[in-house]
Formats: sequence, structure tokens, C-alpha cells
Amino acid sequence: MERKLQTETLCIQAGYSPASGEPRQIPIVQSTTFQYATSEDMGKLFDLEADGYFYSRLANPTCDAVAAKIAALEGGTAAMLTGSGQAATFLTVFNIASCGDHIISSSAIYGGSFNLFSVTMKRMGIQVTFVDPDCTEEALNAAFQENTKLVFGETIANPALTVLDIEKFARAAHTHGVPLIVDNTFATPVNCRPLEWGADIVTNSTTKYMDGHGAALGGVIVDGGKFDWTKYPEKFPGLCTPDESYHGVTYTERFGLAGAFITKCTAQLMRDLGCVQSPQNAFYLNLGLESLPFRMRQHCANAQRIAEFLQNHPRVAWVRYCGLPSDPYYALARKYMPNGACGVISFGLKDGRKGAEEFMKRLRLGAIETHVADSRTCCLHPASSTHRQMTDAELDAAGVGADLIRLSCGLENAEDLLADLRQALEG
Ligand SMILES: *Cc1c(COP(=O)(O)O)cnc(C)c1O
Repeated sequence: MERKLQTETLCIQAGYSPASGEPRQIPIVQSTTFQYATSEDMGKLFDLEADGYFYSRLANPTCDAVAAKIAALEGGTAAMLTGSGQAATFLTVFNIASCGDHIISSSAIYGGSFNLFSVTMKRMGIQVTFVDPDCTEEALNAAFQENTKLVFGETIANPALTVLDIEKFARAAHTHGVPLIVDNTFATPVNCRPLEWGADIVTNSTTKYMDGHGAALGGVIVDGGKFDWTKYPEKFPGLCTPDESYHGVTYTERFGLAGAFITKCTAQLMRDLGCVQSPQNAFYLNLGLESLPFRMRQHCANAQRIAEFLQNHPRVAWVRYCGLPSDPYYALARKYMPNGACGVISFGLKDGRKGAEEFMKRLRLGAIETHVADSRTCCLHPASSTHRQMTDAELDAAGVGADLIRLSCGLENAEDLLADLRQALEG
């Protein structure tokens, strides 16, 4: 039996196997287009009858190799890169749901996804019901409607840092004949593979840990290839009936469960919306992937040390990190991410909003950024930046109290980071 390769090996080797004499590193194919000897040759590509490249909006060899690596990491059957994490979320949902449909989402999700669902997709005629991720199965089941097409959640929510009970959400989705989509950005496939716990499709903002160096915006969609769309053809006509915009192809018939979702998303949505990742960015992303397991270990170790330090500091009122035994999500994190969760923690100071502003001014290594999850430690005080238009009462309702500081622990030496935090707290 062939050995199942481990994550560290897949991060280095998966997705690209050069032939004799070819470049060892994935080449950056910086070409919009590809040439063919005859029109017949190219016609076969357009009919999706032959594999090959013709235009980089639909497919590019650099992007394909990197997508294949991430598919292997997540344990999926097919994957595609997108220009950003937002594009990955949008394409995934819009590949399943359209005008007149309804989706269910955990309320603890990234602010950009929350806006996408509650404002932009609503304008496109797709209704969303947000559910508390910690709700009972009964309450979750009650959120489904006749026209519900999918369920969405985040492995570890940004910025709430709640941990999704993936099995609970998958059970509810499958009972109602719809797929579960999980945004795995904060955990990465190094720490959690949602497809193994019942999720059907996984998305990542590769902008965060996967690239990991703050160098390239990007996203990825990975299909697990297990959700059987053909059991509910009336629910998923886009996948189960001929696509008149693409030579009448029926994606599930032609490409099977393993390929239908990603082929439709590429041939139809990427063709029309064009939110591709550039080959150059895919190359940077691949460099990040090569060291991802080692970086995640250090991010998590630093976050654990810092969370413990903060928890024991007299000026700190509270700390939220699922690696702390006192955290409400500790048990779920142990179950789904036994080797570590992520490098992002949040906490509040006893001096509240004013204390937070002063503390951040004094930090030297931790920069003030809206970004998270890369090699440099950074922090954000939402109440005085991203959420500054909200009142304290509105902040509390949104789960982002006026005192909340989000700290993304980078790859620096832990002692250096602790010394910086200590002087900023006590200075
Ligand atoms: C940042 C982020 C996104 C959006 O990704 P972009 O690459 O910034 O478009 C989506 N989901 C999560 C969890 C994120 O942290």
C-alpha cells in the first residue's frame, strides 16, 4: 500500500512534479494566453474535452500547481485559487445559491464575510439567517427553510475566536440535504482539516497564514468531492442540469462528484467574474506553504506563552484564547485542533478603552495593523479603528467590547515579545 504522505511532506512536494530537466521550483507562468497549432486543438479545450490552458482567467499552470498542493493539504479532490479570500467566499456561495435562495451562516464570522452575506448578497436576492455557533442542534435545525442551499461557518472565527463545532454543523446541513462550507483561514489545514469532520467545501484566505509574510493577497476553494448534488437535483440545478452558457454541459455528469463543483466555479463564475489570483502571487503563496507547518508551530507556541502571561498579569481583565484550559472553547479546540489552533488572541485591560490605546502606543515590536496572521506580531484596537463609528453599547452587541485588543502573535522570539508586552503594560 502506498504511504499516505504527512503534512510537512505535502507542503513541500504536492501539486508539482517536474519531468526530467524541468525547473525544480514551480515556474511563474507569466502569460495571459497559450498558443495552439490548430483551431481544432483549441476547440477541444473550449468544450472541456481536453485538459490544457488557453487563457489565464480560466486556468494558469502556476495557479493550478499551487491549488493542487492546497487540495492535497485539505484532503480535497479539486481546488482553485482566487484573487482574495473574499472572492473565495463569494464564488463558493454563489456557485450553489442564487436569487431567491437562502443560506445559513454562523454569526461569528469575519466582518467582510458578514457584510458580503448581509448586504451585497442580499442585494442579489440571497437571504441569510445568522445563527449563534453555540446554539443547540434544535435551534440550528429550526433555521432551515425550503430554499436553504448551504451552511457556512469558520473553524476559528475572526475576530471572535469561537471554535466551530464542525460535526454539529455538518449533521444539521446533511439532515437537510445541503453542504457545509467552512472557512479554515485561522486554523489552516496544518491544524485542522474540516473535510475530515464532515465539511463539504473549505475556503481559505491565503492572505493570512498560508502566505504568511504579508506579501500577497489571495484565496482558495477546496472541494471535498463527497457531497452528492445529484441526490437533490431540484435544489442544485446549476450542478445537475445543462449549463446553456457552457455548451450545455451538465457538470455532475461530465466531471463526477470529484470535479463538478470546481469545474463549474471555474468555467462559469471565474469566466464571468474574473477575480483570479496572479501567477506571481501564487508563487509567493507557494513559498509560504513550504514552511507553513513550521510557522504554525511557532505562531501557536508564541500565542500560548503570551496568553498565559496575559492571563496572570494584574492589569489584564480577561483573555480569550482557545489554548487556555479556562477558555470556553478549549474542549472543542482539543477535539478539532489537538496540535494547536492559531496565533491570534484577544484580551481586555482593566483600564478599558483608555488603557488599550495607551498600551498599544507603547508597544514597540507589535505594530498597529488591520492585518492578522503573518510573521510580524501586530495588534488592533477595533473600538478606536475599524469599529470607531460604533457606540460602546453597539460594540458590546457586536461582541467587540470597547476594551478588546486583538493580538496576532508573529514568529519573533517569545522572550522578546513578552518583554515588549511587559513594558507596554507596566510602562
Ligand atoms: C481575511 C479573512 C477573509 C478575507 O480574506 P481577504 O484575503 O482579505 O479577502 C476571509 N475569512 C477570514 C477568516 C479572514 O480572516
